[in-house]
Amino acid sequence: MLMRETIYFLGVRVDNLTLEQALRRINGYISSSKAISCSRKVFFTNVHSIHLAKKDSDLYRCISNADMVLPDGSGLKIAGKVLNKPVKENLNGTDFTPIVCLMAESMGRSVYLLGAKKDVLIKCKKNLTKEFPNLNIIGAQHGYFDAAEEKKIIEDINKKKPDILLVAMGSPFQEKWITHNAPRLKARICLAVGGLFDFLSEELERAPLWMRKLGLEWVFRLLQDPRSKWSRVFIEIPVFFYLIMSIRAFQTNFYRT
Ligand code: UDP
Repeated sequence: MLMRETIYFLGVRVDNLTLEQALRRINGYISSSKAISCSRKVFFTNVHSIHLAKKDSDLYRCISNADMVLPDGSGLKIAGKVLNKPVKENLNGTDFTPIVCLMAESMGRSVYLLGAKKDVLIKCKKNLTKEFPNLNIIGAQHGYFDAAEEKKIIEDINKKKPDILLVAMGSPFQEKWITHNAPRLKARICLAVGGLFDFLSEELERAPLWMRKLGLEWVFRLLQDPRSKWSRVFIEIPVFFYLIMSIRAFQTNFYRT
């Protein structure tokens, strides 16, 4: 089977990298000695963001123009198998970003946290410091701000010049915020990490390991927050797989004729 570097699901881009390849790229971005002219943009694509990008051309453009887009979730792994485009690894932001923090800690690189509610952010920073005692967290700002506050936040980021800016404000807002501000941000890379701070702060419990290993984290998240997650599970996932199966049927017929 052919292993391509960039693959597309319903037209939405995913970079098909192993963990090692993705970390090597991050290392390259943060180790560059060049002055920062535009922050590197690292996003994660999952069934939900594909659903959003299909309806929102602005988000679609943000994903298409990012520096790296990693495959997030078991949905893409299954779709990859169905379409004969195997996804090498599930590099979801919740597991991937702590590895980036570990790398930053060992390299003496700085991190700035942006997003989530104030109390969640405080607990997240505390837990991160406990897990990575030598990680240089040089700033933290919650993710509920108006235009005037945003200006001050960007000034603070640019004064501190973090190597890594973690932006946890949910899709599609975080991808749009990063894309819009990247040219004026003095951070080497920006990662759009969704609900990561909620997990790191232990505000939200993560699915047990056995569920994650079976690719069933989405079931746990549905049970945790049925009101906001039901449409992802009962509409977005079935529509996604209906379209994937239709493409598969088309491919099969095409190659048969
Ligand atoms: N959030 C934020 N600012 C906002 C809206 C949301 O900082 O204006 C935070 C919210 O508190 C939560 C995260 O963004 O920590 C969204 O998490 P979610 O799991 O919904 O992300 P998604 O899976 O939609 O990317």
